[in-house]
Amino acid sequence: MMQQYDVLVIGGGVVGLATAGLLADASRQLKVIVVDANTKPPREDTRLGLRVSAIANGSIEILERLGAWDRIESERRCAYEHMRVWDSADAADSASALRFDADDFGLPYLGYIVENTAIQRALLHRLNVLGVNVRYGASVESIDREEPQVVVRLSDGETITTDLLVGADGSSSRVRDCVGIDVSRIQYQQTAIVTHLRPEHDHEATAWQRFLPTGPIALLPLSDGRVSTVWSTNEPDNALAADDETLGRLLTEASDAVLGELTVDGPRGSFPLNAHHARNYVTENIVLVGDAAHAVHPLAGQGANLGLQDAAVLALTVGDAVSGGVHPGERRVLRRYERARKGENATMMHALTALNRLFASNLPFSSELRRTGMQLFNVSGPIRERVVERALGSKPVR
Ligand SMILES: Cc1cc2nc3c(=O)[nH]c(=O)nc-3n(C[C@H](O)[C@H](O)[C@H](O)COP(=O)(O)OP(=O)(O)OC[C@H]3O[C@@H](n4cnc5c(N)ncnc54)[C@H](O)[C@@H]3O)c2cc1C
Repeated sequence: MMQQYDVLVIGGGVVGLATAGLLADASRQLKVIVVDANTKPPREDTRLGLRVSAIANGSIEILERLGAWDRIESERRCAYEHMRVWDSADAADSASALRFDADDFGLPYLGYIVENTAIQRALLHRLNVLGVNVRYGASVESIDREEPQVVVRLSDGETITTDLLVGADGSSSRVRDCVGIDVSRIQYQQTAIVTHLRPEHDHEATAWQRFLPTGPIALLPLSDGRVSTVWSTNEPDNALAADDETLGRLLTEASDAVLGELTVDGPRGSFPLNAHHARNYVTENIVLVGDAAHAVHPLAGQGANLGLQDAAVLALTVGDAVSGGVHPGERRVLRRYERARKGENATMMHALTALNRLFASNLPFSSELRRTGMQLFNVSGPIRERVVERALGSKPVR
């Protein structure tokens, strides 16, 4: 069967769903559908899911604009007011540890740690209200251009003809491969080990991050007092093979017991880490957003935030074009989006790669250099503000 839509979004992750919602919201004339290869995110589970993300203020503004933020249950999101970043050569409370406090920037919080599936559920609710169709269990078989549209054949036998095809299908994007967009890649030789932990001491609404020569470990606060860890390491074998008790001990050591003893209290997962960047984000009628276009090291919790910024800029660009009577898939329209986002995403990818390398370096003086740099950073008002502004995706009040 052949169906006709103005916009087809492939991928119902956080970025794909937000893109669909923002596009439908930007122009009520647009008939939008999302297709995802996976099954629908489960209805609310009593347990918190494995994947949580640090969601910055700028992204919260986007989710608020969509009416999705308030639908995220309070037990599935936790505001963090402070951030502490330190080198393994020093202590978390040393003068060279980086400190960010929401108060210093006139903000109530620096961001939230939010369960990924809770964001998806909130977005799905809004898509339903906006009349966006979402189809699960179907992946892309083929993509053919039939000017001025694209014809997409799906694995469930359906064919969709669309003016604009959005590839939001993550790191291994099939849309990107089908249209032959090349990517540059950086291999980190690190694996991220993710689980939830019960800390001995209060997490103090703080996102903690310690840089070790083997990679950074983050402890992110959850609303029930637990913390979620992302431990990026180039020596993952012991941790991957460890039972819960041993893993808790390894994580306590890696975090320098900043929150006392850590006890594993949740599901576990591991993710091989690499970064990539698509050489182009657009061709005629086709555009990439989120991890399909770029993936960054998780050390600053920026991946989903960059993707949500992509979604907002694309919706604005396409919305303007449609209200001016311009075809939404025109290359010059999509290029406007690409120009606005590509440089910013590339800068973030390279900055995070450099940071990861700097902290992993054992070269003579590198530890002293880091210490001096971090001390200077702590007292450099405008530079600190610029960094925080970038990381939060919005301007601090002061
Ligand atoms: C350990 C770790 C921690 C992280 N922490 C943070 C953080 O704190 N903050 C942050 O901002 N980011 C974080 N990130 C990054 C963040 O998870 C990603 O950037 C974000 O999930 C990308 O969203 P997306 O919607 O683009 O892609 P995805 O979440 O990968 O979604 C892609 C969707 O497309 C679907 N799909 C795939 N192939 C097909 C196909 N062929 N046909 C149809 N559908 C398809 C999939 O089923 C999926 O639903 C972290 C990443 C890792 C690995």
